Amino acid sequence: MKANEQFHRDTWVDVNLDAIRHNIQQVSQLIGPEVAVMAVVKANAYGHGYVQVANTALSSGATHLAVAFIDEALFLRKQGILAPVVVLGASRPADAELAAEHNIQLTIYSKEWVLEAKDYLTRGSNLRVHLKCDTGMGRLGIKTAQELKEIERVIAGTAVISIEGIYTHFATADELDKSYTDHQMETFSSLVAELNEKPPLVHASNSAASLQRKDSLFTIIRFGISMYGLSPSDEIAHRLPVELIPALSLHTTIVQIKKLQRGEKISYGATYEASGEEWIGTLPIGYADGWIRKMQGFEVLVDGLRVPIVGRICMDQCMIKLPAAYPQGTKVTLIGRQGDSEIKIDEVAAYLDTIHYEVTCAISARVPRVYWKDGRSISVLNTLI
Ligand SMILES: *Cc1c(COP(=O)(O)O)cnc(C)c1O
Repeated sequence: MKANEQFHRDTWVDVNLDAIRHNIQQVSQLIGPEVAVMAVVKANAYGHGYVQVANTALSSGATHLAVAFIDEALFLRKQGILAPVVVLGASRPADAELAAEHNIQLTIYSKEWVLEAKDYLTRGSNLRVHLKCDTGMGRLGIKTAQELKEIERVIAGTAVISIEGIYTHFATADELDKSYTDHQMETFSSLVAELNEKPPLVHASNSAASLQRKDSLFTIIRFGISMYGLSPSDEIAHRLPVELIPALSLHTTIVQIKKLQRGEKISYGATYEASGEEWIGTLPIGYADGWIRKMQGFEVLVDGLRVPIVGRICMDQCMIKLPAAYPQGTKVTLIGRQGDSEIKIDEVAAYLDTIHYEVTCAISARVPRVYWKDGRSISVLNTLI
């Protein structure tokens, strides 16, 4: 079936799987063969699609996957993905057996959790856990050597839980000033040294640290945003030692074109008024697709030209002002390239006063994702069918 027969509204995301492969290969080369890659695919793979990204990452050399919650890990299992999956967020002790059954590794950070969870685990189960250390992020984690040693001792006393990893998360690795990360590194290293037995996996680096600090790699990196081809921040974008290729672009088409006369108005609130004869195109994308109302006044690409979004953005549609009468069906690019022009996710993020992580995550499930490999579209994710 052709891509456009699998959805019936001409708004879609293109995901370039070759870019994801390229980005993983780039980081793998940089970190060397001794360090493994955990591909972070939480939040629908940052909006790119869980399954296609997970499979591409695994076939490109990643050995582990990471998600935020058990339900995401179960979804990957349901889709036939067998690779180790690590849940980075909090889980309920009552779900310990469910996780063990599906070979899902959990993050833990308190003795109480272990004591409660072990009663849910049946004999013969083995729940693999990662001990999360809070070294300065202030989110989840064990803070003291004493707590850590107690957790290790309690786990050693059960036959149903084993320590697969120990890790921490950096708060400022995407900034040029390295002092806070240095401090987190020291704290983490001293906590790791307190364990009687070193677990198979020791990890600290997100994308920013993976690309910049050889000393923070340990046994595996947690590679998220840069797998999708994006710099962890603007601040370090010009200093990255690898070439990243963005995987995602967002497109739609003009579904109606009309000529306005001076004084005629556009959209809710009638806030936009034509100042003369104007060509206006209607696009089938709106805030329910993640193209939020604050995008009013921003630009899109038509025929390689930047044109403005005029009037309020509606739930399912918005309007653009065109320099000429482009035909219905003309392709419009909201994120990505057209000819020599490009609208980068960074630019959208800057307009919204946010980070690009939020922009890709916000593109809603209603927008179909079309997957490209070797220059051909190979599959479509449409959650509505
Ligand atoms: C999301 C997340 C990552 C990935 O971070 P990137 O900046 O996207 O590479 C790594 N570790 C943890 C704990 C996370 O929550």
